[in-house]
Amino acid sequence: ATPTAVMVGTGVGATQGVLIKGGQALESAHKVNCIVFDKTGTLTVGKPVVVTTNLFKKMSLKDFYEFAAAAEVNSEHPIAKAIVEHAKKIIEEENHPWPEARDFVSVSGHGVKAIVLNKEIMVGNKKMMSDHNIAISVDAEETLAEAESLAQTGILVSLDGEIAGVLAVSDPLKPGAEEVISILNSMKIKSIMVTGDNWGTAKSIARQAGIETVMAESQPETKATKIKELQNSGYTVAMVGDGINDSPALVAADVGMAIGAGTDIAIEAADIVLMKSNLEDIITAIDLAKRTFTRIR
Ligand code: ADP
Ligand code: MG
Repeated sequence: ATPTAVMVGTGVGATQGVLIKGGQALESAHKVNCIVFDKTGTLTVGKPVVVTTNLFKKMSLKDFYEFAAAAEVNSEHPIAKAIVEHAKKIIEEENHPWPEARDFVSVSGHGVKAIVLNKEIMVGNKKMMSDHNIAISVDAEETLAEAESLAQTGILVSLDGEIAGVLAVSDPLKPGAEEVISILNSMKIKSIMVTGDNWGTAKSIARQAGIETVMAESQPETKATKIKELQNSGYTVAMVGDGINDSPALVAADVGMAIGAGTDIAIEAADIVLMKSNLEDIITAIDLAKRTFTRIR
């Protein structure tokens, strides 16, 4: 393609809300035959809500959520925001002054911990608990499994080393996600989902989206490693993501595509930004690249 054609291509993209950061991005996009999708905030709406709570200790729901919100108010994670919003509803006070959290630690891909009202609280997944030698009871396991079977994510809350409860958050698939995957299939582009979320939830969401290949419980570095593996086996790979934890993979991919509503770090790491946060614009971008680079002169 001529430099003029590339300029026209990026210009057309811009008018459609597809920000293409240069000719190389457009050139790589026309060869893409595999797309790796992040789950949370990319395939799903990304605004999880708490749907159920199971307490395993004698305490009020109000106290439970006071502890959980006091810890999670310090986290930027969508699940943390869901927990704080839910706590506000339970406690029925706007801008509730949560108890102070000391020694707050956020463990990427696992959860958070802090000292609240002189108790050690942890909120996170099974890995978070097992890494801190916290036993998960059969009841808690069953509650987690039930959430996963419903495509929800179960989150464990511990107080002073014992599981106090399990809450389930629901983050539904974006409308139209399934159709985008099926169009990509018909374009002979393979779709893969990677997520830090657990296997059960990941598989349920992938099934709804029509994605067959799933990698769950993956660390940010494993997302990038997976991209390199796919490249080594001959694929030209696009990565679509929105989170801080997606940025290594966005950089590693032949084409990194960020969701416009995503974090600044993801947007910076990407080659293409989907300004309207619509998954359909992945197809818009690839179509535009194909038209620019396979034009018959
Ligand atoms: P994803 O790849 O789906 O965006 P992350 O890698 O951010 O997921 O997180 C993986 C999992 O770690 C979450 O599904 C959740 O179980 C747990 N987790 C991460 N951060 C938090 C948090 N602030 N509070 C509770 N759980 C968390
Ligand atoms: Mg995400």
